[in-house]
Amino acid sequence: MSANSQRILLVEDEENLREAVKMNLEIEGYEVEVAETGALALKKLEDRRFNLLILDVMLPEIDGFTLCQRIRLTDAHTPILFLTAKDSSQDKIYGLRMGADDYLTKPFNLEELLLRVKVLVKHSERGDSNESHLKTYLFGGNEINFITYKAQNHAGIAIELTKKEITLLKLLITKKGEVVSRKEILKHVWGYDVYPTTRTIDNFVMAFRKYFEKDPSKPTHFHAVRGVGYKFTP
Ligand code: CA
Repeated sequence: MSANSQRILLVEDEENLREAVKMNLEIEGYEVEVAETGALALKKLEDRRFNLLILDVMLPEIDGFTLCQRIRLTDAHTPILFLTAKDSSQDKIYGLRMGADDYLTKPFNLEELLLRVKVLVKHSERGDSNESHLKTYLFGGNEINFITYKAQNHAGIAIELTKKEITLLKLLITKKGEVVSRKEILKHVWGYDVYPTTRTIDNFVMAFRKYFEKDPSKPTHFHAVRGVGYKFTP
């Protein structure tokens, strides 16, 4: 037994499997948190960072693939291992395209799981250089850190951003110069939650202007395109 303090989030709705995997990982010295649903997993991810996420594909409410896609919007780094009951290569390809790092088909051998976990956690410690994609972003004297959720604006003021703010900023910045429709924003940022009104998105954009625009009444970065959506210009 090693005394490492790597933290793993295990998202699995089948209680027996969840408890068995948790126990085995703990025996190996990992700190394990569990979630039964994708919604609970997202909540846990707001609170802390993990060295590895293990996601079951077949979950109630929000499936593992969708969950992975959601996580990757704000977190390009944390390794993700899928547990899939399906054995079609189509599913595996889909899962990996959604941003997972590896997968294991159920029923799996615990030894094999532990081996994959070890490799992935090691990879997370080493930190690949290609994982720096959108770690931080600079524009108009502002700097946003997508990992720490902190920003510093043109006036040198430190800003703490919420997870939803970071997700929306990342979406707009990734699509800079393009109008992003309300529909796309709602889907990406709010997802399965209760759909907010258009006013909610307006409030977020107004907050971004307050944080990052030199003159919030004459925005040069965060634009609302009436009846269509929103656009970010560097
Ligand atoms: Ca399941």
